Amino acid sequence: MWPLLEHEEQQRLLLITDELLSRKRWEAARGFELTDTVRVVIAAQAALLVLGLSTDHYRLVSAVVVHPSTLTTTGVRAGPSPGTVTADPLAVLGLAQDGRGPVVVAWDQALAGAHRAEPGHNVVLHEFAHKLDMLDGTIDGTPLLQRDLRAEWVAVCTAVYEDVAAGRPRPPMRWYGATNPGEFFAVATEVFFEQPRELAVSEPALYDVLTRFYRQDPARREPLVDPPRQPSVDQ
Ligand SMILES: [Zn+2]
Repeated sequence: MWPLLEHEEQQRLLLITDELLSRKRWEAARGFELTDTVRVVIAAQAALLVLGLSTDHYRLVSAVVVHPSTLTTTGVRAGPSPGTVTADPLAVLGLAQDGRGPVVVAWDQALAGAHRAEPGHNVVLHEFAHKLDMLDGTIDGTPLLQRDLRAEWVAVCTAVYEDVAAGRPRPPMRWYGATNPGEFFAVATEVFFEQPRELAVSEPALYDVLTRFYRQDPARREPLVDPPRQPSVDQ
C-alpha cells in the first residue's frame, strides 16, 4: 500500500502512525513479544483507515492488545439459530471491545493483512472500523456521519445488506457482512481499502458513500491490472 500513496499521504500516514504508537497503550498477550515491527505494522494499517479523518476518531481505543495468533473467546452470546444462546469457545482473529475497551488482534492475521494475503480480508481495518462505528454510542453499521450523507448511507447500505442477508450475493461483499449491520460496515471497510476497484465497479453507490465518509478514494491509487492473457493454443 505504501508505494501507492502520494507523498502528502505518506507524510500524514507517518504522523498518524507515530501518534497511535505514542498515545495508545500497547500490550502483548499469551507471552507474545511486542516488537517495534509488530506495533508499526498494526499502527500503520490503523492509520490508513483514518488518513482522511483524524486520530480523534480513535478516541475510544484505549489500548491495542496483540495475541500471537487466533484467539479464543468464551462467554454467552447469540447462538447459531435465532433465539438460541451458546457458550461454546469461539476462535476469532480480533475483537473490538465496547466503549473505551481495547482493540485485540492476532499478529499472524495482522501481518497477513499488511501483505494483502487474502484480498478483502484485513483484521486491523475490520476491528478499528468497529471502533469508528462505536463513536456515536451504538454499533449499528452507521458511524458518525456528515449530516448530508446519513440518509443516503442508510439507504445504500441497507439495500446491499438485505440482499446479502437474503442469500443474494453482492460481490465483492462477503457473506459475513450480513451477520448484522455492524459487521456489514466492518466488512465493507475491508473491501473498500483492499479491493477498491472491484467495489467501485460492482457497487458504485456503496463505494461512493464510503469514499465520502472516509474522505479517501482508494481505487484511484490502485494500479490498473493488465487484462488476463488469452491462453495460447498449440497449433
Ligand atoms: Zn467484526
